[in-house]
Amino acid sequence: MSDFKLTILGSGSAMPTPERFSSAHVLNVHGHLYLIDCGEGAQIAMKKYNIKMNKIEAIFISHLHGDHYFGLIGLLNSMHLNNRKKELNLYCFKPLDDIIKLQIEAANTQLSYKIKYNYLSEEGLVKLFDSKHVEVFSFPLIHRIPCCGFLFKEKKQSRNIKKEFVKNHNIPKEWFPKILSGQDFIDENGNVFSNNEIVNFQLNPRSYAYCSDTAYDEKVADYCMGVKLLYHEASFADDLEDVAKEKFHSTASQAALIARKSKAETLIIGHFSNRYKDKSLLINQAKQIFESTIEAYDGKVFEL
Ligand SMILES: [Zn+2]
Repeated sequence: MSDFKLTILGSGSAMPTPERFSSAHVLNVHGHLYLIDCGEGAQIAMKKYNIKMNKIEAIFISHLHGDHYFGLIGLLNSMHLNNRKKELNLYCFKPLDDIIKLQIEAANTQLSYKIKYNYLSEEGLVKLFDSKHVEVFSFPLIHRIPCCGFLFKEKKQSRNIKKEFVKNHNIPKEWFPKILSGQDFIDENGNVFSNNEIVNFQLNPRSYAYCSDTAYDEKVADYCMGVKLLYHEASFADDLEDVAKEKFHSTASQAALIARKSKAETLIIGHFSNRYKDKSLLINQAKQIFESTIEAYDGKVFEL
């Protein structure tokens, strides 16, 4: 099956630490790489976890708090030093355009590639782009400044016969459409090969939603309805619900409630406040509401 793989490059919150860099995730959909937020240290983490920076096709920045984009200028500059030629799509709020341009101009650098800025809006679920393999949407979150989450939905794949099987068996031409329409294959010696075993197909396309920084908002569950893998911040434990509300962040239980309401399969929580040395308190609180909760940590890989 083609890749649908998430790598967490940074799982921490405002202040990066040696154990947890600031927010950054990479999603690999069928070999196409998308970077979601780019906190400080993201490019170092890419090297560590073997993510090829020049393979990144688009970057999505949820909002302009530094822990979500302070790694961006360094990464853009390294792409230039690597002589990237391919245009890079950047999805962000408008001020980032001027911030990046100012830094590049001040260094008197002419990037080796073009950046295409695509501005985010907070008007509900907005389709950002559509390719052969994936559809990407943004949706508004409730934070102190404009902020969006992102939803990646794999497109249904057409059936294909497993490469290994084609290589190892002599399949007459006229059999290909029959196998692809669901028939079992019978070879010249009368051996029967069940269609299920020789054909790749997907009944349920995979999906991933990223909710970076947000106060509790049930609308998020509607935007992410039926998602397979949901990342939702959980900056605070439940006793600090008032602090979470005041700072436009969420508690572990609130993240779990969104997962339950959206009927997600798996919840990842992260962006933990540095006050929690041991994250098990937050994981356990979330698990009380949504059993399938996993802690985000740097280098964690999820293969769907
Ligand atoms: Zn923030």
